[in-house]
Amino acid sequence: MMLEVSGLHAGYGKLGVLHDVSLGVDAGEILTVVGANGAGKTTLLRAVNGLIRPTAGSVKIDGTDITGKPTERMASLGLTHVPENRLCFPTLTVRDNLMLGAWARGGKGDEAAVLELFPRLEPRLNQAAGTLSGGEQQMVAIGRGLMAAPKAIMLDEPSIGLAPKVVAEIMRVLGRLRDQGLAVLLVEQNVRASFGIADRAVVMQRGRVVLEGTPAELVELPEVRNAYLGGA
Ligand code: ATP
Repeated sequence: MMLEVSGLHAGYGKLGVLHDVSLGVDAGEILTVVGANGAGKTTLLRAVNGLIRPTAGSVKIDGTDITGKPTERMASLGLTHVPENRLCFPTLTVRDNLMLGAWARGGKGDEAAVLELFPRLEPRLNQAAGTLSGGEQQMVAIGRGLMAAPKAIMLDEPSIGLAPKVVAEIMRVLGRLRDQGLAVLLVEQNVRASFGIADRAVVMQRGRVVLEGTPAELVELPEVRNAYLGGA
């Protein structure tokens, strides 16, 4: 597995949130993590990325143990985290936002490759990122992560608040990243969208992984249909 999480426990102060979470994402694979609000999906990404320190368990990338390493080192270790709410630096230009992501590699990111994935950013490179649409800002946030040439990318609800067409565009790009050999860990509330693109899925409940399978297997389960697909 390119990204391997084993027996992870983590929380906030005395509050235990993650309990014995294990999952893995291969190179060239999309794993989606779904679950109700408060299930611990964001906490999982934070613990993997070193924003909070796991109390037990391990995180490995390409076989190297990175458990609890400082977040600012994660990009150079091959792991990119695109957090919730598409954090861009609104007063910086699109180009400068992208360049920030390249710092992990000494400033040599592949801007052309990012623009090839997100052609709409090209005419906007010199525009302040804060003036972009929500979808375009999400593209900048993903593009910034890609500038560090990661082996694995984790995204926290990239589709939130975006129009279906833009969601589809973002999902298509995630598919291309998978085809280029990245390990993609996708946290989504939009189960329809993420099941449409993912190779495998896990369902989290109260800080634990309770179900795992392919999207096709999971949609057959009434509990998944009722909880995440509106019973359809
Ligand atoms: P959502 O989809 O709503 O973001 P989630 O599955 O990502 O949900 P988390 O945000 O990981 O869930 O939250 C899991 C639990 O951790 C919740 O009970 C939440 O209240 C708690 N929690 C999250 N952040 C903090 C924090 N900074 N301090 C204390 N508790 C927190």
